[in-house]
Order: sequence, then C-alpha cells, then structure tokens
Amino acid sequence: MPKSFQDLIEEVHNKGICQECGGCVSFCSSANYHIIGFEDPYKPPVYLNKDQCLECGICYYICPQTHILDDELNKTYKFADYSSMPIGHYDNIYSCQATDKAFLEYGTDGGVVNSLINFLIEQKLIDGAIVSRTDAPFSREATFADSKYDLLKASGAKLDISPQLDEIQKFCTYTHSIPKLNHYKFKKLAIVGTPCQLYTIRCMQDLGVTPSENIEICLGLFCYENFFFEKFQIAKFEKDFNIKFSDIVKINIKEDVIFKLKDEGTGEKIVHIPFNHLNDYMRTACNACGDFSNIYADISFGGLGSPDKYTTVIPRTEKGKKILTQAINSGIFNCKDIDPAKKNKMIELISQFSRSKVQRKENFMKNLQ
Ligand SMILES: Cc1cc2nc3c(=O)[nH]c(=O)nc-3n(C[C@H](O)[C@H](O)[C@H](O)COP(=O)(O)OP(=O)(O)OC[C@H]3O[C@@H](n4cnc5c(N)ncnc54)[C@H](O)[C@@H]3O)c2cc1C
Ligand code: SF4
Ligand code: SF4
Ligand code: SF4
Repeated sequence: MPKSFQDLIEEVHNKGICQECGGCVSFCSSANYHIIGFEDPYKPPVYLNKDQCLECGICYYICPQTHILDDELNKTYKFADYSSMPIGHYDNIYSCQATDKAFLEYGTDGGVVNSLINFLIEQKLIDGAIVSRTDAPFSREATFADSKYDLLKASGAKLDISPQLDEIQKFCTYTHSIPKLNHYKFKKLAIVGTPCQLYTIRCMQDLGVTPSENIEICLGLFCYENFFFEKFQIAKFEKDFNIKFSDIVKINIKEDVIFKLKDEGTGEKIVHIPFNHLNDYMRTACNACGDFSNIYADISFGGLGSPDKYTTVIPRTEKGKKILTQAINSGIFNCKDIDPAKKNKMIELISQFSRSKVQRKENFMKNLQ
C-alpha cells in the first residue's frame, strides 16, 4: 500500500511525536504546489492542498519518526539494528582538540567539528557547511558557513544574548537545518546534525531525493535530547536551578548538562544538572528517539568520554575514516594517546547512554500504543 502524508498525520502527528523538522514540507515531491506546510512553526505541518497530493510517500519515508528504511540503512551502514548494537559501527575512537586557538577557544568542546569543516573548505572538498548559530541560551538558527569567520560565529561558546532575549518567545536547542538545504542546492556541502537530522539525510540519499546527492559528508553530534521551552518558563527554570538566564555563557553536554555562568565574585561558575532534572524542558518528540551516538554519520562527535576541551570522535564510514586521517595528518588536531583500557571505558560509557536512550524510547512507545 503506497504511503502518503495522511499516514504521517496518523502515525506521527496524532501520536504527538512530530519534531517539526520540516523535512516532509521541504522535500515533498510537489513542493511547488504547496501541498503541505506549516501554519504554526511550533506545530506539525498540515495538508494545505490535499487534492494535489501524489501519494508518492516521499514525506513518509524521509520522516525521522517512521523508521521505514531502517533495514536498508542498517545494511548500508554495517550493523543489524541499534537496539542490539546501540553504538553503531566503529573501528576506533579518538579524543581530539583543535590546534587552532580560536576554534578551541570558541568551540563547544575541543572545537574539532568547526576546525574539520574549515579544513574541508580549505582543501576545496566542500563549498561550505550547514551549521547552527547560537542566538541565546537554548536558541539556535541554521546557517551556511563557507569561511573561518562564519564558522567561528557558529561556534558553541559565544552567547551574547542580552539584546535579543526580550524578542524571543520560544527557546529550542534544536536547529531547523534540514529545510536550509534547499537554499544551497548547487553547493558541495557538509552538514552538522543530530541523529534525527542525519537519519533524514541518509533516507533522502537512499531514495535519491535532491539535493542530498550534494552532501559530501555528514558530521553527526551525539544527542541525548533537545530542550524546548516558552518564555514564561524562564522564571521556573531560574527558580528550579538558581541560575539567571542572562548569566549563561555556555552549555556543554557530557554525562550531564553543564552550564558555564558569569559570576560577579569568581568571574565564572560551573553548574552541573542531570538530564532527568530537565525533563520538563525536553522536547516530547525526543522521547521517541533511540539513537544517541549518531550511527548513520560519516563521523560522530560528542563531549561524553573526553576531558574538558576535548571532543570524542568516532569515524564510521570509509569516507569518514579517510577524511579524519587526512585532517589528523595535516596537524589541525591534537589527539590524545588513549590506551586500550581507556578506549574500552569510553566505548562503555557511550554504549551506556545509547542503551539508556533505547530503553527510554521503548518505554515511551509502549505507553503510546
Ligand atoms: C542539541 C545537541 C545535543 C547534544 N547532546 C550531546 C550529548 O548528550 N552528549 C554529548 O556528549 N554531546 C552532545 N552534543 C555534542 C556536543 O555538545 C558538541 O557539539 C560536540 O562534542 C562537538 O564539539 P566541538 O567543540 O568539536 O564542536 P565545535 O567545533 O564547537 O562545532 C560544533 C558544531 O555543531 C553545530 N551545532 C551546534 N548546535 C547544533 C544543532 N542544534 N544542530 C546542528 N548543528 C549544531 C555548530 O554550528 C558547529 O558547527 C550535543 C550537541 C547538540 C547541538
Ligand atoms: S506529494 Fe508525496 S511527498 Fe508530497 S505530501 Fe503527497 S505523499 Fe507526501
Ligand atoms: S518529517 Fe519532520 S515535520 Fe514532517 S512529520 Fe516527520 S517529524 Fe514532523
Ligand atoms: S534526541 Fe533524537 S529526536 Fe531529539 S533532537 Fe536528539 S536526535 Fe533528534
């Protein structure tokens, strides 16, 4: 039975697990006829012109919540299924840091992702990348970067939020990167994304949906969850955690969520908040997600497993391994010498988070049915 947007409404929207990622709207086979679209950017898309729907099912197949192409992707990316092997395919794991002082200083962890993109641009392997710029704590915007300057602007650390804070009504750490692809159809691209976003890209590549063929490399971030809240919840957040929103300088995510705050006395203060204390601010759709370590990426990156100012790096595909080797050999990263016992510990920690995410998904989905 062919699928259509109607099936997405029934199987995704009506269950409350639409991520409002915009993939279905942006890559609808008849997008020019505005068959589907957003009436509210914070609500699932709707049929605008149902009569013109081709019932081709593209929207359904590329949606990160249907998982209809899992078997095909798992064959391509060399593992059976992520509930039995939640960390995905890997041969090695690294802990790296950018040698460029600016990428390191402004980077989220070791500044490795942006430093690698910069290397790919300099080597003319890509024209640029879809990245994400911070507007405010818990607020980001997709942007195209084709220079070191653009990449530094999109780095993790620079939260200069006071001017726009009043204008922002809803805060979300999720970035709408997928629709942005449509603006750069003819560029050779890298894309930085969470597991759900790269899943959509891999489905598009599997089905030959344009412009996924122009994506040269998928750089995947680990992701336990994303946060969303409305402005009226800021006061609750500030009270719950004794944090002033406007004092947040940086957010890091490792075994818990780490807030770096401005502090009048000491200059800087660090507050750790466990994930389960932030449940009130987690996007509902994240409950239905079982991939932590970005199993379909060419290379995955995270803070978990590495010390402060280092990024954990897992190359996965042949392309990912080749590019990472070139980058390491060119001297853009310092990679820690990690002995096998430490590597095993890193793998175990990442597997633990991956299993916990699969478990969370299973519990959530059970209650949905
Ligand atoms: C929403 C989110 C959740 C995360 N959860 C975890 C986690 O649970 N555990 C963990 O270990 N690591 C997590 N990470 C990854 C971690 O925070 C770092 O991004 C990663 O370690 C790379 O650090 P870096 O210094 O090498 O990257 P940098 O050199 O600072 O580059 C980071 C790149 O990521 C891009 N980016 C930032 N936010 C987004 C976004 N929302 N969507 C798409 N691209 C984005 C930036 O534009 C930049 O290009 C998460 C990241 C994000 C964005
Ligand atoms: S035309 Fe195809 S992609 Fe577009 S809404 Fe209909 S089924 Fe989905
Ligand atoms: S593709 Fe994205 S916006 Fe469309 S139904 Fe799926 S999750 Fe929602
Ligand atoms: S938890 Fe899953 S659904 Fe939520 S943002 Fe991360 S990858 Fe996407």
